[in-house]
Amino acid sequence: MEALLKNILEDSRRFIKEGAVANYIPELAKANADNFGVCVLSNDNQRYCLGDYNVPFTIQSIIKPIILLMALTDTDIARVRALVGVEATGKPFDAFNYSDQALTGEHINPMINTGAIALCTLIRGRSYEEKFSRLLEMTKIITDNPTLEIDEKVYLSEKNTGNKNRALAYMLKAYNMIDADVEEVVDFYFRVCSIKVNCVDLANIAFLLANHGENQKTGERIFSAQYAKYVNAVLMTCGMYDGSGEFALKVGIPAKSGVGGGIMAVAPNRMGIGVYSPALDKKGNSVAGIKALEGLSKTLDLSIF
Ligand code: GLN
Repeated sequence: MEALLKNILEDSRRFIKEGAVANYIPELAKANADNFGVCVLSNDNQRYCLGDYNVPFTIQSIIKPIILLMALTDTDIARVRALVGVEATGKPFDAFNYSDQALTGEHINPMINTGAIALCTLIRGRSYEEKFSRLLEMTKIITDNPTLEIDEKVYLSEKNTGNKNRALAYMLKAYNMIDADVEEVVDFYFRVCSIKVNCVDLANIAFLLANHGENQKTGERIFSAQYAKYVNAVLMTCGMYDGSGEFALKVGIPAKSGVGGGIMAVAPNRMGIGVYSPALDKKGNSVAGIKALEGLSKTLDLSIF
């Protein structure tokens, strides 16, 4: 496995130059495009890490499956489905060209910004401060990393420039889909997107989803199997945004990318994978990260299809 990962990183590295580091959040533009790391946690209790697997980056959209899990846990499937659907949009993650007919729950999903922002309002807490503490606590448990914290610079950078997300949240409010104070809910969203993680943290999230919410070491149940399956299904169809179909063909497992350069990928009942390479394609997915997952999937026959 070590040799396999080494070969895969070597083969995939040359694709870094086909991508570019995100710069629409100014602070993200400072990432080092040469960083490339991977971590695999497998059901036979092995951990394989290589390259820049412990370099921190912000979780960005990879927090969306955790937002979805908490919204499900704090309410129920009916409430979540009433607000946000499950169909792929085939549009960019921050698209806001909704026509009058199109901005309804049915036309958004939890893995695009509009859907994720809407779901933030379902997380329990008397204030957004309390909702934030609860989500951070849950993320610490899921990653098995009690030291997680936010990257203040990235958070403030997005807070200062994230007007597209504000516009999306105002549209949700204009269409009576949310009732929350827009500034509060987007501030919460920016904060949770700024949680600093590394490949090991992502592999842990994926590993727990791969095992349907049960911690393999302790046997403890962290979230329900039913909700894990809900999240995995939505990741399969929507996790890589408008690149989800291509990813299903090439890699064939549920996964979630973030503009920080991370991808977490779930091989059900087999392994959790975290990769990091901040050069992104036009859709906001890590180019070399996808290549590495393609290599792993082919060699280990991970596709669920
Ligand atoms: N915080 C980012 C945004 O909302 C997350 C997007 C992403 O990772 N694709 O723009």
